[in-house]
Amino acid sequence: MSLTLVWLRHDLRLADNPLFHFDPSPDQLMCVYVLDRAWLSPLPGLSEPRIGPARLRFLWESLIALRGELLKRGSDLLVRVGDPVKVVAELAAGHDVTQLRLRRDAGSDETRDVQTLVDRLGARVDVWQTDGGLLFGEASLPMPLSALPASFSAFRRKAERGWVVPTACQAPVTLPPWPRAAPRGLPPLSKICTGAARWVPDPRGGFHFAGGEASGLSRLDHYLWESGAVAGYKQSRNGLLGPDFSTRLSPWLAHGCLSARQVRDAVRAWEAQHVTGELSDWVIFELLWRDYFHWAARQEGRALFGRRELPTPSESFSAWCEGRTGVPFIDAAMCELKTTGWLSNRARQNVASFLLHELDGDWRLGAAWFEHCLIDYDVASNWGNWRHVAGVGRDTRIRRFNVLKQAELYDPLGAYVAHWRPELAESPPGRLQHQTDVGPRRGVKEDW
Ligand SMILES: Cc1cc2nc3c(=O)[nH]c(=O)nc-3n(C[C@H](O)[C@H](O)[C@H](O)COP(=O)(O)OP(=O)(O)OC[C@H]3O[C@@H](n4cnc5c(N)ncnc54)[C@H](O)[C@@H]3O)c2cc1C
Repeated sequence: MSLTLVWLRHDLRLADNPLFHFDPSPDQLMCVYVLDRAWLSPLPGLSEPRIGPARLRFLWESLIALRGELLKRGSDLLVRVGDPVKVVAELAAGHDVTQLRLRRDAGSDETRDVQTLVDRLGARVDVWQTDGGLLFGEASLPMPLSALPASFSAFRRKAERGWVVPTACQAPVTLPPWPRAAPRGLPPLSKICTGAARWVPDPRGGFHFAGGEASGLSRLDHYLWESGAVAGYKQSRNGLLGPDFSTRLSPWLAHGCLSARQVRDAVRAWEAQHVTGELSDWVIFELLWRDYFHWAARQEGRALFGRRELPTPSESFSAWCEGRTGVPFIDAAMCELKTTGWLSNRARQNVASFLLHELDGDWRLGAAWFEHCLIDYDVASNWGNWRHVAGVGRDTRIRRFNVLKQAELYDPLGAYVAHWRPELAESPPGRLQHQTDVGPRRGVKEDW
């Protein structure tokens, strides 16, 4: 009797998920998700848990939705909270699992966990690992991982030359049955974190992110076919206010409720009926950034997070987190981040640059705060982007924004500040500590 255990981590969907494509099919199947208890504790030096209420709630919604889809196909889901390696190893031993299937992840903790688990399971269990969720898999990357270029531009040039991205595959219609004696189901969120169970986003965000594959597909459908907003993406993607200036697909992509190939295929299908290739191509270009950060993180391992210890947070860091810097554009964005769990790319770049280059803050603390707040937190995209802004990554040019100029350009009438911080709407734009320095310096890139 063969029993496969699918260990789900950041791939909470059935469509385009190689973990659910069996050849041959096992006699029985268990699908398991383990919420790492370490995520409920703060990173050293911070007081907030690594996973904040917005993400935890979205995650739970995604798990509930996934369970529904699995049940429809004759399977089920087991969700546990604890040490993932220990939980999976115990389940494998207790139920005579013959095969373990999982996706290779970008984070070094996740990679270490898999190695520990493989050692613990020994030869009894066949461990099958795959890539998934990205445009490319390691086998279809346009270069060996060891030769990943130092800059995104070089990666993109190579990717576009080779450009063989497989199409997304369908969800399975039926799945093997659940072993009779095995536990199943998930604990209520209120038992894990009452704050997350009660969490509601600030209605001023004007958008509701609901976890799960079906709501991700529905957002994709809306962005392409209902609103047609994708046609204007190239011009609107630097927006700050409103539901459709960008795709807002990031939470679904980060939790694996959608794969990048599904988005790519849907955009191509939309293009086939509209004439505007170049404009919608920009969405795929952004997905390529996501791939790049993933592969860079895979290559860098632990180095992605910088030196081990986080520094003690300063008062200016707390002021930044709480939106009390005195620069209304920054304070409005930090308010949006904390109260909705999401922020536009333009605002992320500005608040990150402000912390690093105006407050002389530490990029790792900024990344840790984002990790806590973001509903779409993704280890590779978050820590990779922070390194990118700080110029400590593979590409060592420093990205510095003149946030006052940026506010003039992207919020010329002050509507964004008035929306999030009406009490600051009449305030002066603020002063930059390094005012005299502002402007391109050697090795300093103002925008990207
Ligand atoms: C400091 C900083 C931290 C960030 N942290 C994260 C994070 O934890 N998780 C995350 O998904 N994105 C992160 N980003 C990237 C980007 O800001 C978000 O992906 C984007 O704002 C999400 O909105 P959207 O889905 O509407 O994006 P769109 O503009 O519609 O882009 C489509 C998709 O492309 C991908 N994408 C776009 N830009 C980037 C980028 N620069 N890097 C990686 N992927 C990108 C995302 O998956 C996004 O959903 C970060 C950016 C910065 C500057």
